[in-house]
Amino acid sequence: MKSIDEGKAKIIIPKYDKITTKMPVFYNPAMKLNRDISVLVLDSIEENNLLIADPLAGSGIRSIRFLLELDKNKIKKIYINDYSKNAIRYLKKNVSLNKIKKNKVMVSNKDANIFLLESFGFDYIDIDPFGYPGRFWDSAIKRMSKRGILAVTATDTSALCGSSSNACLRKYGAKPLRNECMHELGIRILIKALQTAGAKYEKALIPIFSYSKEHYMRVFLKCEKSKKSAGDVLKNHGYFLCCQMCLSHAVTKDIFNSNICPKCKAKLDYAGPLWLGQLCDINFLKKININKAPYEAYKLLEIINEEAQINAVGFYEINKICEKYKIKNCPKINSIITGLRKKHRASRTHFSNICIKTEADIGEIVKVMRKV
Ligand code: SAH
Repeated sequence: MKSIDEGKAKIIIPKYDKITTKMPVFYNPAMKLNRDISVLVLDSIEENNLLIADPLAGSGIRSIRFLLELDKNKIKKIYINDYSKNAIRYLKKNVSLNKIKKNKVMVSNKDANIFLLESFGFDYIDIDPFGYPGRFWDSAIKRMSKRGILAVTATDTSALCGSSSNACLRKYGAKPLRNECMHELGIRILIKALQTAGAKYEKALIPIFSYSKEHYMRVFLKCEKSKKSAGDVLKNHGYFLCCQMCLSHAVTKDIFNSNICPKCKAKLDYAGPLWLGQLCDINFLKKININKAPYEAYKLLEIINEEAQINAVGFYEINKICEKYKIKNCPKINSIITGLRKKHRASRTHFSNICIKTEADIGEIVKVMRKV
């Protein structure tokens, strides 16, 4: 057995050599940030007395942390589920090890879809599987309460980022693009797929917080039960276009007739359909108490707070611009941002530390880069 401390929780899991999906009970320390952010998101929403579902709970660490770290009145009850008998054995031990009150949890050992479909409405559902989350999202969406929040992790980033276009098309119904923007485009494809699933159940799913980190993507979506909103959300799906020749970007609602770059007449690459709206709700971000965040979450929130102000799909890689436009001494990223800010909004992006997010177009960026 191995004892693990994370946040305020202390858990035990069977001994393991490597972190793989074959672990007897799955626990990945690299997902601490994922759980830290989830705690912060729940801490920041106004609603209390929440009914929460953790259908793919593994060791139970996530639910246990929610119960230990959030205000007492935040959670009414958490329904913790996993189909692995071993996980359930440890999860139960971990619940009592952390002195969680019996009336705060309900543990079950079912397939996640059966667990969800046999239950009732939840105010927060956390779909945190390994790999593709699409096998679980329909039943989760069905069980979302009116103003609930759906949290989804996708670790199949190779599909979403375009190493396997066929996999992305099959799983998410979209064409990915393998370039510097691929993580943002991947999140937007994931959101599009969730919203399309939501629309069938007359539920509009609006992102309030999204980020990508190394091997996974994570989105938090607020649910609104409304036929009209569920349809309106779909109207904000479209395509991201970019030109490999002049590096210009564009978005479009439909892809017909948009395959030639107006600036340099080269053939455009595209990704989509994908969500063209906001990845984070600025008003929601203001409610997150960043000072409560552990270091890594703090750093992430800091940069997301900045980039969320910028109304643009995608971002620009500085070195690539220098190379294409033959700018000899590539300026420092901060000087370019300062230069751009004289006329436009611009910031770094958490997706890549060598890129800039801005509402300026490529021509204006190049002008600034030549000047600074
Ligand atoms: N959420 C956990 C990690 C879970 S890993 C955390 O934060 O640490 C994914 C878990 O899903 C594994 O424990 C696995 O046993 C479980 N699982 C996979 N497929 C499932 C299914 N169809 N139904 C229920 N549980 C499933």
